[in-house]
Amino acid sequence: MALSSPDIRRGGRNPAPSAFGLKSDREAKTMATSDRSIRRPGGLVLLDGASARAAGMVWLVGAGPGDPELLTLKALKALQGAQVVVHDGLVSDEILDLAPAGAQRISVAKRKSRHAYPQEEINRMLVAFALQGLRVVRLKGGDPFIFGRGGEELEACREAGVECVIVPGVTAALAAGASAGAPLTHRGMAQAVTFVTGHAAKDGEPDLDWESLARPNQTVVIYMGVSTASGIARRLTQAGRNPATPALIVENASRADERRLVTTLGGLAEVAGTLKGPALLIVGEAMALAQAGEAGLATQIEARAVELGGK
Ligand code: SAH
Repeated sequence: MALSSPDIRRGGRNPAPSAFGLKSDREAKTMATSDRSIRRPGGLVLLDGASARAAGMVWLVGAGPGDPELLTLKALKALQGAQVVVHDGLVSDEILDLAPAGAQRISVAKRKSRHAYPQEEINRMLVAFALQGLRVVRLKGGDPFIFGRGGEELEACREAGVECVIVPGVTAALAAGASAGAPLTHRGMAQAVTFVTGHAAKDGEPDLDWESLARPNQTVVIYMGVSTASGIARRLTQAGRNPATPALIVENASRADERRLVTTLGGLAEVAGTLKGPALLIVGEAMALAQAGEAGLATQIEARAVELGGK
C-alpha cells in the first residue's frame, strides 16, 4: 500500500476508508498501525505564516464545552490550519464547520454498541497522519487534559518523535458554573474546588477519597457521574457531607439545549435520573447561588440584547 501521496477527499464527515485511497476498514487500520508503511516527507509546513516547522504535527486542541464562542483564538487558528481533524463525539458540528472545507474529518466517537476506535488506535492514527506530513488537529471536548485522555495521545506522539502542541480549552465545569451564575470557589463558602471522575472503577463505583470530598466548604465537580450518581451521593453522605448541601446539575452546558437543575446532595440521584445528554454534577455550599433554567448563557445574552435593543 502506497501512502506517500495520500488521497484526501475534500470535506465530509466519517469518510469511507476509500477516502484515504484505502480499500477497506482493515486497510485503514493497517495505515494507522503500521509504521513500515509510512514515509516521512521532508517538506515544510507554515504555521500561521509565522514559523516554519518540520512537516507533520499534532495539535491537541480543547474545543470547549460546546458553544463555538468559547473556543480560544488559538484553537480556532489550529482548526483553520488543519488538514485532518480527528474528533470525538462531544464536539459540535458548528465547531467542526470551522475547519477548512477540504480538511478530512474523522470521528472517533464512542458508540453505544461498541467502541468505534480503542484509544491505542487513535494514538496510532494521530502519529501515522503526522508522519505522513499532515497537520493533524485532535479536537476534544472541553480541555484535552481534563478527563480527556490527552496525556496518552501526547505520550504516543512523544514516543514517535512527532511534535505535539497542546491548546487548552474551557472545561465543562467552568461553563456550567458560569451559566448557572454559581462560582466554583466563593469566599466563606468554597475554599477549594475538586474535579473528580464518576466513572466506575471497581465494584460499580468510582474509587475516590470520600472522606476528603465530604469536608464542608468546598465544591466537588463530578464528570461522567450521571450513571453512578446514587452511589456517589450515598458515599459522600456516609462520609459526613450534609445531605442538605446544595447541588447543581448542568446538562449540555453552554449549548442551546442546556438545562440547569438545582437540588441538594440528598436529591442528586433522583434528578440525575432525568438526564439524557452529557452532564456535570456539582456539589457544594456555593451552589446555593446557582440559578436553575433551560437557556444557555449565550441564549440569555442574546435575549437580553434583543430586550435592550427594543427599548
Ligand atoms: N475533556 C472534557 C471532559 C471529558 S469527560 C472537559 O474538559 O470538559 C466527559 C464528561 O464531561 C461528560 O460525561 C460530562 O460529565 C462532562 N461534559 C462534557 N461536556 C459537557 C457539557 N457541555 N455539559 C455538561 N457536561 C459536560
